[in-house]
Amino acid sequence: MTTRQRLPVEGFAPYQEAPGEEYMSDDQLAHFRQLLLEWKQQLQREVERTVHHMRDDATNYADPADRATQEEEFALELRTRDRERKLIRKIDQTLEKIRKDDYGYCEQCGVEIGLRRLEARPTATLCIDCKTLEEIREKQRVA
Ligand SMILES: [Zn+2]
Repeated sequence: MTTRQRLPVEGFAPYQEAPGEEYMSDDQLAHFRQLLLEWKQQLQREVERTVHHMRDDATNYADPADRATQEEEFALELRTRDRERKLIRKIDQTLEKIRKDDYGYCEQCGVEIGLRRLEARPTATLCIDCKTLEEIREKQRVA
């Protein structure tokens, strides 16, 4: 039994390639374009929800402890929103790559990133080998 892959957009069916289909065919590019657009919409809805939530919840607590809790909560939400905004920017950059027919290949070594990896991480710009190397280097830099 295979474990079900967690997709960025729930319920978005993975691409079924035809036998012998070439990598990054027009159909595949259309599939990833659609996937990215839906993902972006989903994120934008979440960003909006956060904004509304913060507006509705902004209460002027008399107790400094309550105020501190609220401030912490808001700080956390702002960080989440910031992350979502960055992700939306990344999605836009990826959509641009699709437009330029430059999508699906590793920026470091040029190999195919692969459909399965892109399905799970549609904004991936590195193949799994280069990504792993990058992560090792980053860890060494921090250490
Ligand atoms: Zn690579």
